[in-house]
Amino acid sequence: MKPRLILILGDQLSPDIAALREADKSRDIVLMAEVASETDYVPHHPKKIAFLFAAMRKYAEALRADGWQVRYTKLDDPDNAGSIPGEILRACDDASTDEVLATEPGEFRLIAALEEMPIPVHQFPDDRFLCSHADFEDWAEGRKELRMEWFYREMRRKTGLLMDGDKPEGGKWNYDHDNRKPPPGSVDAAPMHFTPDETVEEVLDLVGSRFDNNFGDLKPFWFATDTGQARRALTHWVKTALPRFGDFQDAMMKGERFLYHSIISMYLNAGLLGWREVCEAAENAYRDGHAPLNAVEGFIRQIIGWREYMRGIYFLEGPDYMSRNALDHTRDLPGFYWSGNTDMLCLSEAITQTKEEAYAHHIQRLMVTGNFALLAGIDPHQVHEWYLAVYADAYEWVEAPNVIGMSQFADGGVVGSKPYVSGGNYINKMSDYCKSCRYSVKEKTGEGACPFNALYWNFLIRHEDRFSNNPRMAQMYRTWARMDEGKRDETLTSAKAFLEKLDQGAKV
Ligand SMILES: Cc1cc2nc3c(=O)[nH]c(=O)nc-3n(C[C@H](O)[C@H](O)[C@H](O)COP(=O)(O)OP(=O)(O)OC[C@H]3O[C@@H](n4cnc5c(N)ncnc54)[C@H](O)[C@@H]3O)c2cc1C
Ligand code: SF4
Repeated sequence: MKPRLILILGDQLSPDIAALREADKSRDIVLMAEVASETDYVPHHPKKIAFLFAAMRKYAEALRADGWQVRYTKLDDPDNAGSIPGEILRACDDASTDEVLATEPGEFRLIAALEEMPIPVHQFPDDRFLCSHADFEDWAEGRKELRMEWFYREMRRKTGLLMDGDKPEGGKWNYDHDNRKPPPGSVDAAPMHFTPDETVEEVLDLVGSRFDNNFGDLKPFWFATDTGQARRALTHWVKTALPRFGDFQDAMMKGERFLYHSIISMYLNAGLLGWREVCEAAENAYRDGHAPLNAVEGFIRQIIGWREYMRGIYFLEGPDYMSRNALDHTRDLPGFYWSGNTDMLCLSEAITQTKEEAYAHHIQRLMVTGNFALLAGIDPHQVHEWYLAVYADAYEWVEAPNVIGMSQFADGGVVGSKPYVSGGNYINKMSDYCKSCRYSVKEKTGEGACPFNALYWNFLIRHEDRFSNNPRMAQMYRTWARMDEGKRDETLTSAKAFLEKLDQGAKV
């Protein structure tokens, strides 16, 4: 019997991935490949590329040790075809086969590439998620609004996580209200670091030589690169940081990149960890009295709520989602997104740590870099490509609904019922950034005023037709109407002057 090729992609590194379950160890060949079309379609952060290549190489080694025949193409292999379809065809030729099994990729671009191959590639559903495409479609069917909170409650019932019979543990579904504390005086936790082993060092050499022009620092490199390490990182976080995760989930601090966040999204998204084990680890910590309910519920909501919901939206909305631009925003992404060279301290902190760590936490992504881009009217596609490139956890299925939907409102309100915008006050309340910023958060207009303040009103007025009737925004329009006319003019003039400076490429 001729062998079949079992394609495993870089974010499918789970031991029980669907295509592998269908395979026959004595007959089939596992195919894995590092290819330029995947490293280059956006300029990925070098840490992200190194993480994936190292994790792929170790996954391949583990399969070999388990008796599988693995065909692995390294990026610098002179015969490398440069793309996934090219590598499939080359492997088919060499093994004299035309049967290929795959697990559905998490990106329309690759799904289409496999569908368009001259040989049939059988794509099995990726069942590492709690909610299948069909289940999400059923849930969405006939609903006027696809609100995450309702979806999340169904997922709680479905999994039984934090349930007390058919009631939510503690009597409430959502403890978000308790999770908005301003930054603590100091942080007594840090993610677990791993010293690069021989495989990682080899990958670091390759990535260092090929991608040193990409935005982002390759070293120091400390990520986990196999499931065993990722599990140790998870256990360490549950023990040392989960109890305070809820309280400071939205806080931001100068020089503190991780606070009490779990830093597991890249491990989850690549398949080194699964949603169930991470949720159960958190739930056990609550049941053992180690972590409070607001922390554990908040964490589980991110995983079985937001993460699953975002994937559902991506596949429900379809391939045109990435080009939506409901607010007609066309300004180019400012150069400082690629350097951190701005006087706005919140932005320089978020971008600099992104450059160094390929990581920023949710509120930095949403209320600093995302908020600024939305207020300044940046083209959402450029914003999308930036986020896809710079974060170690970024894959289109999860990044695009967060950016195009939640952060930029470019989907016109599929994900959010109102845009996530704020002036400097929110950032001042949730961070210690403003204290050391050149701009004054208290000033509303003028050269020294926090730019977020005037830009916020400018955004609301620019989109008055669309948002003034939104009940969740009406209060802000009433506040604007009550402002005296001179103040309003001054605000809009201030915003205009700032945007002109931005367009001229001057340092802001
Ligand atoms: C503009 C923007 C872009 C984003 N892009 C990505 C992305 O490319 N990839 C990605 O995994 N997450 C993305 N997120 C969601 C979130 O910011 C990250 O999942 C989180 O910061 C990862 O860090 P952590 O592991 O320390 O998470 P924690 O704060 O510890 O949260 C725990 C886990 O919950 C999940 N999670 C939390 N929020 C979300 C969310 N909104 N959507 C999906 N999963 C969530 C993640 O798996 C995360 O690991 C984005 C959010 C915004 C606002
Ligand atoms: S003053 Fe404004 S620009 Fe400066 S850190 Fe605060 S919010 Fe950011």
